[in-house]
Amino acid sequence: MSAAHAQRDRPEPARPVLFWAQMVAVPVVAAALGVWLVGTRWHLVAPSLGELPLGARAALAVGVALVIGGELRPFIGSSRVDPSGVAWSTTFAFALLLFAGIVPAMALLAGAAALSGILSRRATFRWLFNAGQYALSLMAAWAVLEAFDRAASLTALWSPRTLGDLAVVLLAAAAYFVTNELLVAGAVSALTGRTVVEDLRAVLTFEVAANGAQLALAPVVALVMHHAPALTVLAVLPVAAIHRSAAAERESRHAASHDDLTDLANRKHFVSRSERALEESRRTGEPVAVLVVDLDRFKEVNDVLGHPAGDAVIVEAARRMRAAVGDADVVGRLGGDEFAVLVPAARSRQDVERVALRLREALETPFRVSGRDVDLGASIGIAMAPEHAEDFESLFTRADTAMYAAKREGTGTCFYGPELDAGAAVHLGVLGALRRALDAGHITVAYQPKVAMADHALDGVEALVRWRDEDGSFLPPDYFVPLAEQSGLMPRLTAAVLDLTLAQCAQWSRQGLRVPVSVNISLRDVLDPDFAVGLAARLVRYGVLASMLTLEITERVVTEDLSRVRATLQELSDIGVRLSIDDFGTGWSSLVLLRNLPVSEVKLDRSFVGPVASSGSDAAIVRSVTDLAHELGLTVVAEGVEDAGTWDALAALGCDVVQGYLVAQPMPPEAATAWVASRPATAVGMQGAAS
Ligand code: C2E
Ligand code: CA
Ligand code: CA
Repeated sequence: MSAAHAQRDRPEPARPVLFWAQMVAVPVVAAALGVWLVGTRWHLVAPSLGELPLGARAALAVGVALVIGGELRPFIGSSRVDPSGVAWSTTFAFALLLFAGIVPAMALLAGAAALSGILSRRATFRWLFNAGQYALSLMAAWAVLEAFDRAASLTALWSPRTLGDLAVVLLAAAAYFVTNELLVAGAVSALTGRTVVEDLRAVLTFEVAANGAQLALAPVVALVMHHAPALTVLAVLPVAAIHRSAAAERESRHAASHDDLTDLANRKHFVSRSERALEESRRTGEPVAVLVVDLDRFKEVNDVLGHPAGDAVIVEAARRMRAAVGDADVVGRLGGDEFAVLVPAARSRQDVERVALRLREALETPFRVSGRDVDLGASIGIAMAPEHAEDFESLFTRADTAMYAAKREGTGTCFYGPELDAGAAVHLGVLGALRRALDAGHITVAYQPKVAMADHALDGVEALVRWRDEDGSFLPPDYFVPLAEQSGLMPRLTAAVLDLTLAQCAQWSRQGLRVPVSVNISLRDVLDPDFAVGLAARLVRYGVLASMLTLEITERVVTEDLSRVRATLQELSDIGVRLSIDDFGTGWSSLVLLRNLPVSEVKLDRSFVGPVASSGSDAAIVRSVTDLAHELGLTVVAEGVEDAGTWDALAALGCDVVQGYLVAQPMPPEAATAWVASRPATAVGMQGAAS
């Protein structure tokens, strides 16, 4: 019943020398003492076995069977750093010690521990340690019995009878218990860096209760062995009862602190383990590290391949992570695809870096899901106590900040540093300025035309938000739109762009210009249940027909949260607004996915429109997307067209509409109006562009 007992075997990180010293010393000392004991008491064993009365032989046989059976099915987990099993063999081994002496008891229990270790393929050093630990504990108990002249042997079978006997038996049980606990606590503390006392304090109540029940039954079993050997089997029943209730208790305790799907520590358990580690770190000064692990591209797998596939990935990722960390480290699943690892004895930064590296390597191997290989990879943020924070809450927040930095910069792993907060502070400043700009109406819109390839006629204009900062500098939307998205500002930004664009559209129509408009919306907008209703009201307010408005949603938004955005997309389409999938080709979606959505347009992303004239593979992508889109009745828009060669290539591939610097740059409203007005209804102005 050791902490080492129930640990899984895995490719291990380096363990401290002290730990190995104990792993070697315990079995060696036990073996030496064992050899000496057997040598000096051989005459009490060898000749007598054959002369034993039948009943005693039966009792011994049952005892042997029970010890081996008990070792093979350990039970009762303890709350120790590592889950440990309490084997019910303890009862019978201790009973055998009382009844037939040290040699059979010791040989049996050590042998059974070795057998179960080999059968369950535990590492050799583990079962050697377990066997040694049992043997030494039994020897301690035997020393007490011997001191009080109560030691039995096969030639002098014995069982307690008087109150005096009982006192000696209790003392021997105490010796067994203390020896066993000290040996385990020593190994655990060498591993975790906690002191033996700390380790014992954490588990003592449980260990006393579990072992107390085990050991208390032993004298009774010894009595039965002595006086009614045939009835020894009956002892199985109470032991089985203890076994069952302890197993049930362990299960419910385990369930309360572990995640159902992955069996990792749940959030509550992870937090309490971290807090305990931090408390110790405050006392010992040893650093503690928290790693926040985020699976890259998980959401895409989940939405494209479905939840069962997502669950399978989570389970496999959990298994790999647990195998990648050390014994004393705790892997937790804090929800969804959010994982964290606690390294309680983080000796140095390099040490933790190695843990992170192992985790990333483990997660980079492709996952086999629904018959295909999926590459995921992970981003890991690390924060250490006491360097970065002293309480769990802040430590975790900082690890989280570092994880986002790792993701943003694509570095894989990132340690927290105050400069990351500085980045956050800059962002906060920008957000404040953006809020003021929205209040003051300083946000404007530029319009970029889209034209039909067939006749160069105006297809519409896309509204692109523009913001000049208070000091007059231009800030690109690629910078502040994501910030607005992460904060609560996005709905206001979208509302401002819609107001400007719809007002402009209405004005154009009063001037006799029919100009359909496109507006970019973001995930936040689509997740807002009131968005569609608000938009309908806006259209009425500005007197713009719904069919004049196209909403562009990036492909990533659609694929990342398909289940949640579907309803809104349907509502928008019911109003009569057109929907367009922006940046198509950058996400994981397929046109098959779009078939079930009320979409009327796809915009091929710049990244493969640009090279379409020079790269065969990009041309192939564009052609297949275009063909399939046409089959589904969708318009295909190519964005970012900068030169005539690209235009010609796109024309050959069957693209419908083009947008890009070749046609026109995004323009402020007046310039856009002039551009639109100068263009004949069926435009022919593009011949120049192609030449
Ligand atoms: P987007 O929706 O893909 O917009 C097209 C971007 O490509 C625009 O950048 C446009 O100026 C640029 N562009 C147009 N033609 C060419 C070309 O020929 N070559 C190159 N290299 N670029 C071209 P912009 O205006 O900087 O906007 C960047 C992104 O910011 C947009 O990408 C869109 O995702 C987002 N965005 C812009 N305005 C809004 C808005 O009002 N709301 C939301 N939610 N996002 C917006
Ligand atoms: Ca767009
Ligand atoms: Ca785009």
